[in-house]
Amino acid sequence: MARIVMKFGGTSMAGSERIRRVANIVRRQQAAGHEVAVVVSAMAGETDRLVGFCREANPLYDPAEYDVVVASGEQVTSGLLALTLQALGCKARSWLGWQLPIRTDDAHAKARIGEIDSDALLASMSAGEIAVIPGFQGVSEDNRITTLGRGGSDTSAVAVAAAIGADRCDIYTDVDGVYTTDPRIVAKARKLKYVTYEEMLELASVGSKVLQTRSVSLAMKEGVRVQVLSSFIDDDATPADEIPGTMIVSDEELEGLDMERQLITGIAADKNEAKVILTRVPDRPGAVATIFGPLAQANINVDMIIQNVGRDKGETDVTFTVPGADLLRAQTLLEAQKEAIGFNRIITDGKVAKISVVGVGMKSHAGVAATMFRALADRGINIQAISTSEIKVSVLIDEDETELAVRVLHTAYDMDAKDEAASA
Ligand code: ASP
Ligand code: MG
Repeated sequence: MARIVMKFGGTSMAGSERIRRVANIVRRQQAAGHEVAVVVSAMAGETDRLVGFCREANPLYDPAEYDVVVASGEQVTSGLLALTLQALGCKARSWLGWQLPIRTDDAHAKARIGEIDSDALLASMSAGEIAVIPGFQGVSEDNRITTLGRGGSDTSAVAVAAAIGADRCDIYTDVDGVYTTDPRIVAKARKLKYVTYEEMLELASVGSKVLQTRSVSLAMKEGVRVQVLSSFIDDDATPADEIPGTMIVSDEELEGLDMERQLITGIAADKNEAKVILTRVPDRPGAVATIFGPLAQANINVDMIIQNVGRDKGETDVTFTVPGADLLRAQTLLEAQKEAIGFNRIITDGKVAKISVVGVGMKSHAGVAATMFRALADRGINIQAISTSEIKVSVLIDEDETELAVRVLHTAYDMDAKDEAASA
């Protein structure tokens, strides 16, 4: 008998029909003799809809009230799944974030999980009850509803898996695994059998929307076995244990598993970045600190940063990216600090995309970045900013060129699936 956390994303939960399908998958998993906890997302599109209402109510919304609104989507689906399971004759109940509780800090709209009290959960599971937990939500020290940031249900699932010592955390989604890139952009994208935590972390952080970044770092830290698989299987399909999804493994585990590793594991595109340029910032010690200090305090993540070489006048331009959703807040904050920072103009551009190539193979191979720059240049794609890590190279480009860039790079790194017929 294993203890398994099953997480279902928004497309899997979109409507009664799909929830029934999910309930069947869950029921089968339990019928196979396992203890099961389920973590659910809101119905596809629901969180966007709720965020829209918040924006309409107040463009500079109070994140604490935003959380009250957006957490409701998961409350609905958790109740509905419990009801559907009951209709199938299973014992099931929902556990809202505040009921367990799932304790978080008070960084509203992007809260971090501190502790999950698992006693009641374990007791109910061992009594044969299926526990249904809304993802994305928790409760702060002062008893206010919090949410974990977009895509946060993945993190909820991994956190629950860690808290109850689950043998596995299966993330059911609308794709059947992690691909070399988005198959909707590149028809020849290949499904990966394995991907390392580190690679998944980079891929998740650069916009491959399969898993929330924080869920991956948490899984890596807690050693939770995570598998990504599809919930779109027919009713008497193979049990979950036999569906070949993508398994997230450690570097060491991978070495024994996959001999035909390629240099690049995945290519991701992120259109949710926005570019900010501050012109004529004084070129002196502390200038950059006065820019990024307030942004950090407001919990705005800055990603790529470029500071141009100071010109003779002792001034420089500073370019950086922030999440598109934070652009307005960032701009407001910076305008308010205009005197203190001493810049001349603020220029913003939401129509940019970050394209990243990721692979552990990069650690031991040179030329990955050069291949990328050449391939983009050959198609006339202009690079506006660059950043790198040990296993990733990212470039910022015009959003309109996203699909083209991804396709070009997928071919440039020889990642396209080979035509079976042709190679036979
Ligand atoms: N419903 C939330 C979102 O759309 C959380 C999640 O689905 O993971 O971001
Ligand atoms: Mg998701």
